[in-house]
Amino acid sequence: MTVRNAWVLSLLALASAVPHAARAAWMERTEAIMGTRVYVQLWADDPLKGNAAIDAVMAEMHRIDALMSHYKPDSQLSQINAHANSGPVQVDKELFDLIKLSTHYSQITEGAFDITYASVGYLYDYRRHIHPTEAQIRKALPAVNWRNMLLDEEHHTVRFEHSGMRIDLGGIGKGYAVDRGVAILKSRAIQHAVVTAGGDSRILGDHLGRPWLVAIRHPDNPKKVVTRIPLADTAMSTSGDYERYFDEKGVRYHHIIDPHTGHSASKVRSATVLAPTATQTDGMSKTAFVLGPEKALEIINRMPEYDAVFVCPDGRVLYSNGLRPPVPRGPTATSPRVPP
Ligand code: ADP
Ligand code: MG
Repeated sequence: MTVRNAWVLSLLALASAVPHAARAAWMERTEAIMGTRVYVQLWADDPLKGNAAIDAVMAEMHRIDALMSHYKPDSQLSQINAHANSGPVQVDKELFDLIKLSTHYSQITEGAFDITYASVGYLYDYRRHIHPTEAQIRKALPAVNWRNMLLDEEHHTVRFEHSGMRIDLGGIGKGYAVDRGVAILKSRAIQHAVVTAGGDSRILGDHLGRPWLVAIRHPDNPKKVVTRIPLADTAMSTSGDYERYFDEKGVRYHHIIDPHTGHSASKVRSATVLAPTATQTDGMSKTAFVLGPEKALEIINRMPEYDAVFVCPDGRVLYSNGLRPPVPRGPTATSPRVPP
């Protein structure tokens, strides 16, 4: 062995002897939590630290699920649904605050976002192809009204003032969980990451100097992309009528419910909302879906933090002002269309 080779070999030996020699890399993991797919991808200087950061995000998602799931009978949210009809139910400040925040979205959207939608929403079972009859909807609908939720700020209690009320945080909880996940990554000095739960994602930083290219899928074909948007340090939520649904006699029954009618909303095929946090985008994506493009764009174009992309039933793709090209153009005549 030459002296030079021995020198190289001893260097190699030294490198493998250093415990967990740090090697910066992208790392990713997917887990099934909150009834959906949770995905974390991050850039880690040290794989051990990266793994620990992903562990911490997943643990946080499990914690939030245990607190807020309406499927878990012992969650605090289920306790509200079981007892708030007969008296105030005290919950953790965290859950109380998210319920209160959801009423803020109800207020600014004239009730298009309303967690009491669940008073009629529970009558749908998409997996078993069950939907309520008109008579059942008529009977349940008066219980859908966020104003009948009495929230006591001092004691963190929730009380229902109308019989038959239920709530469900499925329309905002995942966005909230994604924001908590990003906060955990930031506290661990992670600078580049994406956290996704179902249709809700938040991007931390950029993709090492370039933006992330995020795709919006075709409503009828998950492999087809309608548009790609370059993003950094932004949250994005998409609500689509293709996520949880069944078709019956030409009608699509899906999981986004118009609180004013009790039926699945049908003005768009998908609504994508961009804003700084995923709690914001999650709340507003249902709203945009229920209200439809004209009304939703009116609201979103007034709020500088928000942008939106709609895929309409006729294939048109509409963008909010912040995403439109600088040359002014009419929303209908020249809007791009996606082929069916
Ligand atoms: P994902 O669950 O994949 O994030 P969405 O963000 O589109 O998808 O949320 C859909 C969920 O929102 C439904 O499953 C239901 O729990 C809830 N939801 C449906 N309609 C409304 C509404 N009008 N207001 C508030 N929440 C709603
Ligand atoms: Mg969502």
